[in-house]
Amino acid sequence: MDYLPVFLRLEDAPALVVGGGRVAARKIDWLLKARARVTVAAPELLPELAERVRRGELAHLPGPFEPAQLARVALVVAASDDRDANAAVSRAARERQIPVNVVDSAELSTFIFPAIIDRSPIVVAVSSAGAAPVLARLVREQIEALLPARLGALARFLGARRAAVGRALGALARRAFWERIVGGRAASELLAGNEAGAVRAFAAELAGARLAGGGTSAAVTPGEVYLIGAGPGDPDLLTLRALQLLQQADVILHDRLVPAAILERARRDAERIFVGKETGDQTQQTRINTLLVELARAGKRVARLKGGDPFIFGRGGEEAEVLAAHGIPYRVVPGITAALGAAAGAGIPLTHRRLAHSVTFVSGHAAADDALDWRALARTAQTVVFYMGVSQLPRIVARLRAAGASAELPAAIIEQATLPAQRVLRAPLAAIAALALREQVAAPALLIVGEATALAAQSPLASLIGAGGLEAVA
Ligand code: SAH
Repeated sequence: MDYLPVFLRLEDAPALVVGGGRVAARKIDWLLKARARVTVAAPELLPELAERVRRGELAHLPGPFEPAQLARVALVVAASDDRDANAAVSRAARERQIPVNVVDSAELSTFIFPAIIDRSPIVVAVSSAGAAPVLARLVREQIEALLPARLGALARFLGARRAAVGRALGALARRAFWERIVGGRAASELLAGNEAGAVRAFAAELAGARLAGGGTSAAVTPGEVYLIGAGPGDPDLLTLRALQLLQQADVILHDRLVPAAILERARRDAERIFVGKETGDQTQQTRINTLLVELARAGKRVARLKGGDPFIFGRGGEEAEVLAAHGIPYRVVPGITAALGAAAGAGIPLTHRRLAHSVTFVSGHAAADDALDWRALARTAQTVVFYMGVSQLPRIVARLRAAGASAELPAAIIEQATLPAQRVLRAPLAAIAALALREQVAAPALLIVGEATALAAQSPLASLIGAGGLEAVA
């Protein structure tokens, strides 16, 4: 290890920054965040730095660097654009044993600035020891995506209760208690922004731990369920929250639409249970409901991972009802529904100022039961997206035509939207079913109908956005 990562307390410590440009301004930002007393030495300052000097946030020594400026300085940063001047600062600082950072020069520095994630009081610092700063920043971004936005608030919440827990529990019980808390309901309520709920959950947990006599085996606290939308298939289309909860969950219930690449983003040691079902299989849904309730009652954090969005043709509503009826806490994480993924992948704007004033998501199953208002679906100036419609295609087309839709109405089928094997097929409404048959379209696929569907054909971007970009046109 070339550098030891440590966290410096700089509150009220005098720090000198040499240079008044952009780079200096960024370092000054960090130093001020750490509440150092900053002096900037430079002949000229950026307007934003000059403004901060005027507001009294930092002091300014006009003119070039002089070694005398290092008297009584705890730390110095050389950030001018003059290499020789920076080297002189480094030399003078090292002679006096003052920690010095020279931007873009690990050799001249005795300390370096890491890439920082600031969820104070939680702070993450990443360094490549100057070897690959851009890579260090990429690592920081990847870690950042995993950390909930309210992590700092959670740390403060826990910090404020340390003393009380210390008084209530013996040393042995304490650690098990904190482990349950950070992985449990109080933490997840706080991360979800519900402070009152967190306070209640924390109090209940502490009371339980006290009753358990300070032993480490407190009664099982109930788990919770996350109904998570996994998006249309491309793992990069997961939301940050989906990713965070996937990292927390002890058990993951997933179905056919969730590809392996997404499951790989879950915690390595999480149990994975496949609960895919054939269409309309009611016993399987009952089994899922039972599993969700039983696992949560056993204290597990359960991720119910669904393709697209849980509340769009995903039976998320039924599962939420069951959980509520059993008093099991749950959270719903929206996902990018297949229609949105497919539209983006094929370059089809679902609404358009001239061509489509509304968009409707329809279940193709409902077409079989004739439960739909076909006259409404056949109207012009709108886009209609049929989910689960592959087997119903000829019927859907016939019903739309009978209700007045034009034979020429543009239509498209998007198969495996956003996945590497994505295919986009286009044809006028009257020809789309035959094209799908010829091309052997299989689930999962969507049918999109409406004037705006035609725009995609003109878009050079469509094939760029789409993963596979295979196209067939009748
Ligand atoms: N909750 C999901 C929909 C589940 S119903 C969502 O919001 O997307 C299953 C139907 O969704 C499939 O029959 C298909 O019509 C559609 N679908 C899901 N993923 C798809 C994909 N990657 N490409 C095309 N259609 C998809």
